[in-house]
Amino acid sequence: MTTDKRGVAVLQDPAINRGTAFTDRERDVLGLRGLLPPRVFTQDEQLARVMKNYRRKETDLERYIFLTALQDRNEKLFYRAVLEHIDEMMPVIYTPTVGEACKEFAHIFRRTRGLYISAADRGRVADILRNWPNDKVGVIVVTDGERILGLGDLGANGMGIPIGKLSLYTACAGIDPSLCLPVMLDVGTNNQDLRSDPLYLGLDQVRIRGRAYEELVDEFVMAVQEVFPGALIQFEDFITHNAYSILHRYRDRVLCFNDDIQGTAAVALAGLQAALRITRKSLPEQTILFLGAGAAATGIADLMVAAMVAEGLSRDQARRRIWLVDSKGLVVSSRRDTLSEHKKPYAHDHAPMDFLPAVTDLEPTALVGATGRPGTFTREIVELMAELNPRPIVFALSNPTSKAECTAEQAYGWSNGQVIFASGSPFAPVDINGRRYLTGQGNNAYIFPGIGLGAIVCGSSRITEDMFLAAARTLAEQVTEDRLDQGAIYPPLRDLRRVSVAIAVAVADSAYRDGLATQPRPDDLDAHIRGHVYNTEYDDLA
Ligand code: NAD
Repeated sequence: MTTDKRGVAVLQDPAINRGTAFTDRERDVLGLRGLLPPRVFTQDEQLARVMKNYRRKETDLERYIFLTALQDRNEKLFYRAVLEHIDEMMPVIYTPTVGEACKEFAHIFRRTRGLYISAADRGRVADILRNWPNDKVGVIVVTDGERILGLGDLGANGMGIPIGKLSLYTACAGIDPSLCLPVMLDVGTNNQDLRSDPLYLGLDQVRIRGRAYEELVDEFVMAVQEVFPGALIQFEDFITHNAYSILHRYRDRVLCFNDDIQGTAAVALAGLQAALRITRKSLPEQTILFLGAGAAATGIADLMVAAMVAEGLSRDQARRRIWLVDSKGLVVSSRRDTLSEHKKPYAHDHAPMDFLPAVTDLEPTALVGATGRPGTFTREIVELMAELNPRPIVFALSNPTSKAECTAEQAYGWSNGQVIFASGSPFAPVDINGRRYLTGQGNNAYIFPGIGLGAIVCGSSRITEDMFLAAARTLAEQVTEDRLDQGAIYPPLRDLRRVSVAIAVAVADSAYRDGLATQPRPDDLDAHIRGHVYNTEYDDLA
């Protein structure tokens, strides 16, 4: 690799800067003599320094700020640190710390990353995209900041989410960081506290809605097709009705998906499929009760239906295996007139009732919590599930940790280790009666990086439901028997690179089968995909 840059410009470009690890020859050729202390360090030595400084920080938010600064300075070293310490750093660069970082975004802001497109930019969105310094973009993660994790409307502060997700695309699937573009669609915020904050970075106005909003989103999506053809758009943390309407509007027209709906769905389905390897039951035998009926819950329900259909049920039979409870109680047919579209397929004939009687009445084999309301899986509920099933499946998916429907300790403790438990945010292992139980984290990072890698390497023109089914199946197969024995229904995070490549192969294979790939099929798809994976070794620039 070569560069036209010289001197300070080299040190200021995080894609090529290797800091104290520039060799003597590079220092001569690139005009770096004197700009660096004389001793040349190896990347291993640099990593040791990074880890020492990282661990010296007292709070996760400080660790987040430290890692952001490293990413802005030396990308290869940043990704080396993240990859080698993924268990430790994933919860910092992504949930739960990223939530805290978004709340504080305006206060911890140091250096800009990504593109901001605001409601004031109607008519010039393509020009803004052309301001991005890289000609080629592979993946865009875009949010409008209205439903950040379980934290609500964080306006332009939500930019922490696209940045964090794209870091995971590189860390987990090895997508080159130069191909990754974070985008904030700043359409205002209805969060008055933010607008009153003198340091807030976004537009000081209420959110634009209706036509004006749709036209801005439309201009953005079309501008991407013009400026960065072939780029995958991942929609992230939009409020439910916008998440659904944007997905329905574009999924058959451009290469895009919504991670809160489809990524979450695939990771939860994979968890269920892995849990069924423990209970030795089939998917069509399950009765699944959701607490929460937002984008995450109905996205999961829809993909579970597709998976049951693939296992032989009719769509109608499959939907009848699934029930939803929202903030007004069980979703039933008598409520149909007032229900939003995404809930209607699950509004079955039944008496209206609350969550607890619904558990008693429906006798679910699996509970899935996606409410954003902590404490909603009470002791009574977990004990009841353990009475109804020898190995009840309980997923408390709400993020961050403080929003989980119940904790791992509660789930395992109240059921005496009977539950098969997964959560959205990480929990420490729980020891009960001399046995250690691990908690699988239903982290979307198991799915979306592999989807992105597979789709962009084969040049897929769309992201399909079949790709998410293939991704879920592949993820469930990657869990070892040993992990299952300890109650963990996902692979360890340190296996994410291997898992993401396996998912990418399955996704690309699906694209080739469905005639969606625009690149010729290589003889060895696995090796071809591996060949695209970014590595953290420094390039020789001299
Ligand atoms: P949402 O706002 O669209 O939906 C929330 C739903 O919960 C609504 O249907 C609401 O009616 C219902 N609800 C709220 N309080 C309730 C209560 N007390 N009882 C019953 N229902 C109640 O949000 P969403 O996008 O669906 O996300 C929900 C949660 O799922 C968030 O906390 C988010 O962090 C989490 N999530 C987790 C993952 C993951 O683990 N991989 C992925 C995406 C979202």
